[in-house]
Amino acid sequence: MDSVETSINSAGNNKKVNLLGYDLAHMKEFFSEIDEKSFRAVQVLKWIHQSGVDDFAQMSNVSQDLRLKLSKIAEIKAPEIIMEQKASDGTIKWLMRLDGGNSIETVFIPEDNRGTLCISSQVGCALDCGFCSTAKQGFNRNLTSAEIIAQLWIAYRQLRIISSDSNDESKTINALVKKNGVKRDITNVVLMGMGEPLLNLDNVVEAVHLMLDDHAYGLSKRRVTISTAGVAPALKRLGEECDVSLALSLHAPNDKIRDTIVPLNKKYPISEVLEACRFYFNGNTKKKQFIIEYVMLAGINDSEKNARELAVLLKKMPCKINLIPFNPFPNSGYECSKMQTINRFKDILHKAGYVTMIRKTRGEDIDAACGQLAGKVIDKSRRVHSVSVTH
Ligand code: SAH
Repeated sequence: MDSVETSINSAGNNKKVNLLGYDLAHMKEFFSEIDEKSFRAVQVLKWIHQSGVDDFAQMSNVSQDLRLKLSKIAEIKAPEIIMEQKASDGTIKWLMRLDGGNSIETVFIPEDNRGTLCISSQVGCALDCGFCSTAKQGFNRNLTSAEIIAQLWIAYRQLRIISSDSNDESKTINALVKKNGVKRDITNVVLMGMGEPLLNLDNVVEAVHLMLDDHAYGLSKRRVTISTAGVAPALKRLGEECDVSLALSLHAPNDKIRDTIVPLNKKYPISEVLEACRFYFNGNTKKKQFIIEYVMLAGINDSEKNARELAVLLKKMPCKINLIPFNPFPNSGYECSKMQTINRFKDILHKAGYVTMIRKTRGEDIDAACGQLAGKVIDKSRRVHSVSVTH
């Protein structure tokens, strides 16, 4: 955490500190540094995240002097929305502009009983999984905690605008609004957009604190899911710093296959990653979920033998399994397994005692499905890409 002084001085010329990404502890520290009482932290947090306010002048229970003081040294700044697209199934995708020509995408997926927001943690991704289109774009940088939570902040504001357009009277940010039979409310957040959350742990943890904090979004830990390709040491640290649901992008029943589709596996093989997951849950999955994600790639990881091997591998892991039909993109070199194959794979796991779901593809007509979140990445990883994914 930068102190206020260092933030101001390191920028040389009174650069304002952005309070959008500050969790309660950080906000309290900020107010203490400017010699203000710590209850101000709670007030400001509520204004920013519960009322969606980005102007100190609107914070009516904060004294005028303090509002003026805040406006001189601080700001509440989110990325600018450059595009909002709605799919025929109600999915909404926002493209947000960052610095240096980069942009990120965030997707809202409404279902009958919940609304899931899929957010990004990095600009691009450095992991280079062959079946993921984000990987083809390379990597630029980590998102700040402000940029991570901004995706939620923006989605809430936009959904409120959409709901007020539909003449709904509700004004509260968490209001459930039914439009065309679809609820428009964010009940779940998944870090399954661009990037590897555990390679940006500090900023992800601070943003997750805000998601869980009753003074901000108040989501339950079961409904916030960090998805990871398996950065084993970071998983252990995550367990010490926050407590949310976890999705592991396993995608293979053994190291031989996983090495070829998730290069990170060469560094942290399956046994090490599963051990770190066990440590993370410490035998307790009552209040949070453990999901194994498995992308179905024809002829690569989808045989009956692979399913049986997976069932043995996950024995005693308190997990559910999510089979994800591969979403193709140009020159990926992979094909999605046939539906019949996916169903057979599911049956084997089901018979072995696992709750197994096949993920529905959503927002296909606006390229909002898994692995299709692209945004724009000014690649700094200097990888040579044989394909470029355009949007
Ligand atoms: N780096 C994190 C989060 C981003 S990917 C992780 O690896 O978990 C989110 C999920 O979408 C992962 O399970 C990922 O493997 C999957 N995914 C990526 N590309 C896909 C594609 N083309 N089709 C289907 N799923 C994909």
